[in-house]
Amino acid sequence: MPNSRYFCGKIPDLSQRSISRSDVLQLARLRGAPEIFHSIQGEGKSIGVPSVFVRTSLCNLHCIWCDTDYTWNWEGTRFPHVHDTQPGYRKFSKKDWIDQCSILSVAQTVASFHCRNVILTGGEPMLQQSALVKLMELLRQSSQGYHFEVETNGTLVPSPEFDAAIDQYNVSPKLDNSGNPLKLRHKPAALRFFATSPKAFFKFVVAAQSDLEEVLHLIHQNQIPAENVWLMPEGSTAAVLSQRRKWLVEICKRNNFRYTDRLHVQIWGAKKGV
Ligand code: SF4
Repeated sequence: MPNSRYFCGKIPDLSQRSISRSDVLQLARLRGAPEIFHSIQGEGKSIGVPSVFVRTSLCNLHCIWCDTDYTWNWEGTRFPHVHDTQPGYRKFSKKDWIDQCSILSVAQTVASFHCRNVILTGGEPMLQQSALVKLMELLRQSSQGYHFEVETNGTLVPSPEFDAAIDQYNVSPKLDNSGNPLKLRHKPAALRFFATSPKAFFKFVVAAQSDLEEVLHLIHQNQIPAENVWLMPEGSTAAVLSQRRKWLVEICKRNNFRYTDRLHVQIWGAKKGV
């Protein structure tokens, strides 16, 4: 939530805007508050860029290794997760892990940071496109210089309004290693849209060398330029990333893909909201 050290005094005026108090975003709740935080981008094209993160709740997929499972792995569902066998791991109570936030309050929190790169992340943020369009409009009306990125699993086609508002798509199509059935994780129309968008950059999460065949097939099928492809090792500890990057870098070199690490994992491990 707002940190007075970063407060810039540009709070949008609700009375001047086409936003009502009933416009709501469903955000992840972490440590009792909506998950909005100032950090650096840890992955992909904008790695290292200071950014404000807005984490939406809810996802249309259920990756077994997801490290934001508190946005979708609800009590009463049957989705498996790699942590299922960990002592103390439990599914999440939906009412305790979602914050219904007015768009105005989210805009006020975002505007309170001295930072204009905003990353809409999740969960799957594109499940809430119309509310996010209002958030982006409100922030742009309040101050110049905003740049909006969205992190998406690439299964949903953007609305024209969302596409007009967003500056950068960080698209991460899920592979077989995610545990999602093909018919859920592979949506050809959405992939075609992103493959031809000049704003879209692709990031594939690679857990084993055998994942490469699937990555190459998707890239070839959708004619994604190699310079728009980042490969990232799957892993939520520095030790796992260190082991996997050794062979993943070689795969990147051979195919002219970019390599991305997971900077936040290297710095903070599995800690959330940092
Ligand atoms: S798409 Fe992203 S947020 Fe959704 S389950 Fe997979 S890793 Fe988690």
